[in-house]
Amino acid sequence: MHHYKMLINGIQVAGANGQFDVINPATGAAFAQCSAGSLAQLDDAVAAAQVAFKAWRHVSHAQRCERLLAIAESIEQGADELARLIVQEQGKPLELAFSEVMGAAAWTRYAAGQQIEVGLVEETPTQRIELHRKPLGVVASITPWNWPFMIAVWHIMPALRAGNCVVSKPSSLTPLSTLRLVEIIARHVPNGVINCVTGEQGFGSAITSHPGIQKIVFTGSTATGQSVMRGAATNLKRLTLELGGNDAAIVLPGTSLEEVAEEIFQAAFLNMGQTCAALKRLYIHESQYEAFADALTLIAQRQVVGDGLEPGVNFGPVQNLEQLQLVEALVADARDQGARVLCGGARLDRPGFFYPPTLIADVTDGQRLVDEEQFGPVLPLIAYSDVEDVLRRANAGDMGLGGSVWGPDVQQAQALASRLESGVAWVNCHARIQPNTPFGGSKMSGFGVEFGLEGLLEFTGQQLQFVNKRAGE
Ligand code: NAD
Repeated sequence: MHHYKMLINGIQVAGANGQFDVINPATGAAFAQCSAGSLAQLDDAVAAAQVAFKAWRHVSHAQRCERLLAIAESIEQGADELARLIVQEQGKPLELAFSEVMGAAAWTRYAAGQQIEVGLVEETPTQRIELHRKPLGVVASITPWNWPFMIAVWHIMPALRAGNCVVSKPSSLTPLSTLRLVEIIARHVPNGVINCVTGEQGFGSAITSHPGIQKIVFTGSTATGQSVMRGAATNLKRLTLELGGNDAAIVLPGTSLEEVAEEIFQAAFLNMGQTCAALKRLYIHESQYEAFADALTLIAQRQVVGDGLEPGVNFGPVQNLEQLQLVEALVADARDQGARVLCGGARLDRPGFFYPPTLIADVTDGQRLVDEEQFGPVLPLIAYSDVEDVLRRANAGDMGLGGSVWGPDVQQAQALASRLESGVAWVNCHARIQPNTPFGGSKMSGFGVEFGLEGLLEFTGQQLQFVNKRAGE
C-alpha cells in the first residue's frame, strides 16, 4: 500500500508518529497510508516557512505570477492522476473530480494574474498619503474533506501570490490529493515556501495556537471554526473562516418547472450534497409543491449510484461513515414525524458508504432535517403559502452562507433575495461561484471572503505611509 509523506522545507518526510490509513468511501477499506506527523514536525514546518518568508516576500509580483502560472500548468498536466486520487479518497465521480482539478488550475491562473496596487489616499502640495499592502508571514491552511483539492488551492494560491509562505493541513480523511498538490507547488517555489503536515489528532488545535503563524484560513464546520478562533487569540492571528451553511431556496409561484428543476437538483446534490454552498432547504409554493416533488423525484431516480471510478456512475458514496450516520439520523427523525420519503431514504446494502439521492416531503421548520445542515444526499421539500412568512423562515437559524430565490419575474426575485440574511444571494441559480467574485458567509457561517480582490487582500496587512513633503525645506 502506498505511503504518502509530508512535505517540510522541500523534503518528503515520514511522520514521527507513524502512519494512518486512508479509506476509500466506495469500498470502506483502506487503499493508502499517510504520515502521522508530530507536533515537533509542525514546528519544523513553521520554522521552514518563517525562513523562506524572508526572501519570498521580496520576490517581485511578476515573478510570483510566473511561478503560479507554471503551477497551474503542472496541475493540468497531472489532472488525470490527480482526479483518480480524489475519487479514491473523497468518493466523487471521476468526471466531477476532473472538474475539481481543472477548476483548481483555473483558480490558480486567476490568482497569478491578480494585482495589488498601492492606494493613493491623498496628494496635496504638502503631503502624500499612500496605502501599501504587505504579506503577513506564515499562513496556515486548514481544509475539510468535501472538495479537498479545490479548497486547498483556494487557500494556498492567493496566500503565495500575496507573498506569504504556507503550512497546509488537510483533513485526515482526504489528505492525499493535497500532498500531491503541495509536491507540485514545491517544484516551482523555493524550499519552505509551501509545506504540508498531516496527522489524525491534535494538529489542528496546535496550529491555531502556534506563535509562528500569522494567519489561518480555515474551511470547515462552525464548531471547529469557533475553536480555531479561540486558539488564534494567543497571538491575534488574522482569520478567514468559511464555515457551515444551511442554505434556503425559495421557489416563487409561477416558476417554470421545466427550466429550473434540473438546476435545483444539481445545486442540492452537487458532490452528493457535501458542498458548503449547496441548496439545503427547498421552500416551494403550495400551488406547485406536488409538481416540483414529482419532477425532482424523476431526476433523482435517473442518477447512477456507484464507485466513482466505474464508467457511467454520476453519484458516488458519502465520504465517511460518520457523515452517513448523520444523514440516516436526520431522515429517521423526519420519518418519525410523519414525513414522506419520495425516493431513496436508506443506505445501500453493499460495501462502502452509499446513500442514494433522497427527497423528503411533508417536513417543516422545527424538524432536524430542516433546521440542521445535513451535508449529504438528502433534501427536504417544504411547502409555503405566504412570501413574507417564507422569508422569515429562510432567515431563521444561525447560518448565513448563501440563499436563493427562483421566479419568473427577475426583479421581484432579486428584491426578495436582497432580504436574505446570507453572504451570497442567488437569483434563479444557486451555488455558483467564480474566481472573480468574493465569496463568504455571514452570521455563524463565518467571516472574511475568498476570491476576487477582496479575497486576495485578506492575505495582506496594510501599512499607511503618511509623508510630509515639506520636511527639510
Ligand atoms: P471539520 O470542522 O470537522 O474539519 C475541518 C478541518 O479542521 C479538518 O482539517 C480537521 O482536521 C480540522 N480540525 C479539526 N479539529 C480542529 C481544531 N480543534 N482546530 C483546528 N482544526 C481542526 O469540517 P469537515 O467535517 O471536514 O467539513 C464539513 C464542514 O465544512 C461543513 O459544515 C461544511 O459546511 C463546511 N464547509 C464550509 C465551506 C465554506 O466555504 N463555507 C466549504 C466547505 C465545507
